[in-house]
Amino acid sequence: MPELPDLEVAKDVLNRRVIGRTIEAVELFDPIVLRRPVAEAFQHELQSRTIQDAQRYGKFLILLFTPPARLYINFMLVGHLAIQPPSDRIMKSTGFRLHLSGNIDLRYYDGRRMGKIYLLLKDEPTSLIPTFDEQGPDALDPALTLDMFRAHIRKFNAQIKRVLKNQGFIAGIGNAYSNEILYEAHINPFRKRSTLTPTEIDALYSATKAVLHNAITTITTRSGDNLHFKIRDFLQVHGKSGQPCPRCKTQLTTVKDGLDFVYYCRKCQV
Ligand SMILES: [Zn+2]
Repeated sequence: MPELPDLEVAKDVLNRRVIGRTIEAVELFDPIVLRRPVAEAFQHELQSRTIQDAQRYGKFLILLFTPPARLYINFMLVGHLAIQPPSDRIMKSTGFRLHLSGNIDLRYYDGRRMGKIYLLLKDEPTSLIPTFDEQGPDALDPALTLDMFRAHIRKFNAQIKRVLKNQGFIAGIGNAYSNEILYEAHINPFRKRSTLTPTEIDALYSATKAVLHNAITTITTRSGDNLHFKIRDFLQVHGKSGQPCPRCKTQLTTVKDGLDFVYYCRKCQV
């Protein structure tokens, strides 16, 4: 599932590759992924609009069009975009295809059909997108200062890993990057937020910014113009079951927590 760094890099790729292109044809193959509006309106409304900008908020990627409309994509588990030649075969997992001026396609794929896509026209509000307005500040928003982070986190009392994944706290972090941030901050994922010292809260803030920024740099360097969200092997603990801790060499611990796996070092995350 893509998280903030994956989507930030995808946003940059889209800004390089598709800005200024006009949608010449729209084909919706899988209406299940489209939450708003209905299929006919989606195809009719997107036709002939020009892609003006790509943005991101939390785990949503947003395409802005002229005349005004916005497409919000929440990729969920396996959804992703691809830029490719129009002659490429249409795969079973293709959700929709935008044929763009300059003879390229922007396609959405979702083999699990769990992604959620919303098209808002003109000034239709984001309150039409469930949970969107309940998101906290984006994790990379420069306005999210240390002081604001300290004050805001006091409203959340769950286990700290769950707080980090809660989009109502800050937006953009999921299972993989919450594992990484807690490792960087030397904090045990199962601690309750209320047990964290002010020094640990400050370390968590620094780790959040550092881990996300470093991941964006790494993924940008390695992904080129790809939009596939697959680069995770550089992470320190996430997905590293049974491997030694990069810091202290203790074997990493894996714990299943609901649908997620928590990866951490029981020796240097206290
Ligand atoms: Zn360790």
